[in-house]
Amino acid sequence: MSQEPQTGATDPADAERIRTNIATVRERMATACERAGRDPDSVRLLLATKTVEPERIRVAIEAGEKLVAENRVQEVRPKFEALADLEYERHFIGHLQSNKVNALVPYVSCIETLDRLSLARKLNNRLEREGETLEVLIQVNTSGEETKAGLEPDEVEPFIRTVAGLKALKIRGLMTIGLNAEPEVARPSLALLRETAERIREENIDGVAMDELSMGMTGDLEVAIEEGSTIVRVGSAIFGARD
Ligand SMILES: *Cc1c(COP(=O)(O)O)cnc(C)c1O
Repeated sequence: MSQEPQTGATDPADAERIRTNIATVRERMATACERAGRDPDSVRLLLATKTVEPERIRVAIEAGEKLVAENRVQEVRPKFEALADLEYERHFIGHLQSNKVNALVPYVSCIETLDRLSLARKLNNRLEREGETLEVLIQVNTSGEETKAGLEPDEVEPFIRTVAGLKALKIRGLMTIGLNAEPEVARPSLALLRETAERIREENIDGVAMDELSMGMTGDLEVAIEEGSTIVRVGSAIFGARD
């Protein structure tokens, strides 16, 4: 038996599994787009990589994936540094505490989980000081579960009107974690995100775009695509179950 070097290289079987899983998820997305009569290029695959080692993320990026997101601020910088030679887009999809803003902002182009004004102000202040802008999605609680983060659907429009005045934040759309249930049971929560975005789009709020709907995960990405998702966030179908 030859000795595999233990230099952070992923074992070849694991790398192959990641590539096969990506192909399977891409196939699911293509089938869902076809069934929904949607352009396959209108939905992006975001890799949800919490707890996944950088070298396994590297396999996915080298296989052609371009969009990666973390949930925990403390994982962002180490992974950024380990993958600094690669070109890919980085989002944040976790709960963001206001005191972690400075540790996160330099490393991401979009925060998908903006859910309160104090955080929006803190982000805007930091960005304005640096002369920078940042894309954000507004997180909406579409499932009605009290444990879920996000604004209530009827709070979204007034919130957006206020955040639209914070010029360093570019609102691009909405994000939700739908009801954690069978896909057809989750569907109304996903449809609610689309309907909320449609209502806001009709208001034509200055500087506010409603082009992005981030919804759909391993279990419900087909239904999310049928309901208009533009970003599906997939973790376990690609990297395996998390501990
Ligand atoms: C982990 C995570 C996902 C991906 O979940 P899977 O079921 O593993 O695909 C998507 N969105 C958020 C916010 C997550 O934390």
